[in-house]
Formats: sequence, structure tokens, C-alpha cells
Amino acid sequence: MNNKYYITAAIPYVNGKPHIGHALEFVQTDVISRYHRLMRKEVIYLSGADENGLKMVQAAERENLPVQEFCDRNAQKFIEIFKKLNTTLDFFQRASSKIHKKGSQELWKLCEKNGDIYKKKYKGLYCVGCETFYTKDELVDGKCPEHLKVPEVVEEENYFFKLSKYEKPLLKLFEENKIKIVPEHRKNEVISFIKQGLEDLSISRSKERAKGWGVAVPNDEKQIIYIWFDALNVYQTGVGFGTDEKKYQKWWPADTHVIGKGILRFHAIYWPAILLSAHLELPKTILVHGYVNSGGQKMSKSLGNVIDPFIEIEKYGVDAIRYYLLSQILPTEDGDYNGEQFKKAYNGDLANGLGNVVARIAKLCEKSGLKFESNKTEFKDTLKEHKFHKVLEIFQFDSALKIIWEKIKKLDQRINNEKPWEVIKDPKQQDKIKTILSFYVQEIREIACLLEPFLPDTSQKIKRQFSGKEIQSEGPLFPRLI
Ligand SMILES: [Zn+2]
Repeated sequence: MNNKYYITAAIPYVNGKPHIGHALEFVQTDVISRYHRLMRKEVIYLSGADENGLKMVQAAERENLPVQEFCDRNAQKFIEIFKKLNTTLDFFQRASSKIHKKGSQELWKLCEKNGDIYKKKYKGLYCVGCETFYTKDELVDGKCPEHLKVPEVVEEENYFFKLSKYEKPLLKLFEENKIKIVPEHRKNEVISFIKQGLEDLSISRSKERAKGWGVAVPNDEKQIIYIWFDALNVYQTGVGFGTDEKKYQKWWPADTHVIGKGILRFHAIYWPAILLSAHLELPKTILVHGYVNSGGQKMSKSLGNVIDPFIEIEKYGVDAIRYYLLSQILPTEDGDYNGEQFKKAYNGDLANGLGNVVARIAKLCEKSGLKFESNKTEFKDTLKEHKFHKVLEIFQFDSALKIIWEKIKKLDQRINNEKPWEVIKDPKQQDKIKTILSFYVQEIREIACLLEPFLPDTSQKIKRQFSGKEIQSEGPLFPRLI
């Protein structure tokens, strides 16, 4: 049995602070990572920082900081948000690290050895924001579709990667599901992009234009490796590629790359092509999430509607934020973050639904004065919830949560029907009340286990309260928002 699981969150470009969209991805990745840990697998959850490229140099210049210092400061903010979100991130690999640079030069040499790298003069339309050349067809009204800016015309001699050579092998890969893309419509997008024909990819910049920042091309000090060639390789250098062969052999290939829809092409076309060229193994699955809008609009600095996850966590607590991101935003579609929906989900599902049933049962147990069998229900005991495991295996976080809340609702209704508060009063019915309450307690213990990958703190709190022989009531898990 394959007992290891290697999962990555996309490595953010650290030219700014993390926003709520980053939080969505880091939390989604964390749920999968926690799930496999609970299933007793050995897991690595890796992310890192994409730090090379001209955009970083320009951003540092605007703040009057040396580029390395600028990267250090911003990378730190991302490391902090992984912690604040209570993720199980194991490793944060930075693209400006020595280890990474060495590994990226190794990757270059492997592709070169296979005859897939050549030099030629090139003129193209370049968006600095995307660090990408666009063809005229790909522009919208002559502008980059991501940044809505007119790209620069750039002419220089670069190294090229023979992407065109991999058109057929890539098509075969996706048609045979050798790399699984979730959701299916993203796979179709990739296939139709490949079918339009793939052009060779420029994979270096002149040192001058890159302002000397980045990974040097092996044996050519005048050129710097294009950031998308080196950035994707963080997934490999983070587990030892080029520096720790034993570690690399153990962990590569990645089981799942979690990414946003905007960088699908890099992960589903360039990355597998580079790996095929280097004769290295391919990642197994790519999970693609959508964007998080704010109050119905795209988040942007100029609209002033960028949601800062640090502030939200401070205000509502980390599990409330995790719950919103996982239940209110469909895992592979665009979603919205807004106060009204937040309050509704928080009060309805957390304060009333979960919080209320936990408080009700604790109070009944306390009032009965009974002692219960102490018990440590574990996650594997929830395997009988087949449907829950099935939807989680295919990353349907919202559906998995619905299954848990269905259980909560049923339990609440059962309490209403059985009216245990009446039974408690009758001294002749001590056996009956013990049976009734023991059932509730067992149900709550199971609910706590099911919640563990999603709301780890809340799960621990409930477990602590309900695992012993004597059960006491405590303050509300989620105080109502007014
Ligand atoms: Zn752009």
C-alpha cells in the first residue's frame, strides 16, 4: 500500500501580502493534508515563495528596498498566515534559496541533455505582471486578460524550450487521465488549448532585463532562467531534487498540486512537458479552485475591497474563517466573501447548529449527574460514513460538511422528539436516560472526529469536553454574532 502523500499549495508570488484567496487555497490544501494524516499516511504539505522575476525587482524598487530584503519580509507574512490558519504546512521552500537555485540548474541541464533547449532571437508581447509572452489572439482588446494592461514589445536573444515537441505526448496524458485534473471542465480547457497548437517557450531572460535577479542559466552568465521554469521546480527542490536524492526518491511525484484557475496552463502544460523532457515522474492530480470575490466584485486595491485574512481571523476566530471558505465557496468554482453571508453561515451553522447541539447535550449530561464510559473515538471509526469519505476523496469539501451538518440536524431533532429533560426528572427511568444520553454522547464524539480535518480546534474542544466520564457544560463554542 502506498503510505505516503505529498501535497502542495501553489507557491505564491510574494510581491504583496496574503489575501483571502490565498487563505482559501491554503485551507483547502490543509483539509486534504489533515485527512491523509488522519488516515495514517505519512504526509508532506509543501508551499513556498515564488521570488524571482522582474516583477519582484520592480516591486522592491517601489518600496526602496533591496530585492532580497523585500522578499524576506513578504515571505515571512505568508509563513505567518499558514500558521494563523492553523494549517499543517511542513515546509516552505523559497525560490531565492541556494538549494532551490541548484536544483533548478539541474533541471535545466536534464532538459538540455535531451536536446529540448535551444537559443534564438525573439520578439513578443510581454506582460510583466504575468511574466508571460502573449500572442495577439490571447489578448483582450489588446490587453493582458489578467492585468488589463497593454503588454510591452520585447526583443532579445533567449533560450527556448521545445514545447511543440510535447503536443502529442501531453494530449495523450490527459486523454488517458495519467494526470487527473479536477474539475473535469478544466481538463477540457487544457485539452483544447493544446489542440490549438503549442509554440516553443522562451525560458530565459537577458540578465540585463532581469536586472540580475534570479537563477543563472548554467554555463551562460548573460542569461537568467525564466521564473516559470524555476518556480514550478520548487515542488521538486522542496523535497530534495538536486540536493537530497534519497528524500526526492521517497516523495516525488507529488500526489496533488492545488492551484488557482489563473495558473492552470503553467501547471498542466509547461510543468508536465518539462518533466517529460527531463525524464522525471509526473504529478498525479491537479486540483483547480476558482477566485474569491469580495462583496460580489473582484478584489482589487483600487476598489479597496481586498479582504485581509489576518484581520478576519482576529475578529471571528480561525475555525469560523475555515468554515466559511470550505462551506460557502464551492471548491472548484468562484465564490464570494461578504459580511452578510458570513454572519448567516456563522450564526446558522456554527452558533446555532453545531454550538447549540453541543451545549444542549452537555447540559443534559451535567443535569443527569450520570457517569459515562470514557472513550477515545478516532477518525478511522468514522469509516462507516462511506459517503463522507467518498466526497472528501474527490475534494468536495462543501458536500462533506453538509453530511456532518445533516448528522447534527438529525441529532437535534432526535433530542426534540425524545424530550430527555422529562425523562431525567423520573427516578424510575435512570436506565432509560443513561441509554438515551450515551447515544447522544457517542454521536457528538463522532461528529467531533468528522470535523477534525475542517475545524481542528473546534474538534479538539468538543473531544476534550466529551471524552471523560463526567461531562460538564462549558461556554458557547461560537458566541452569536449580533
Ligand atoms: Zn498580465
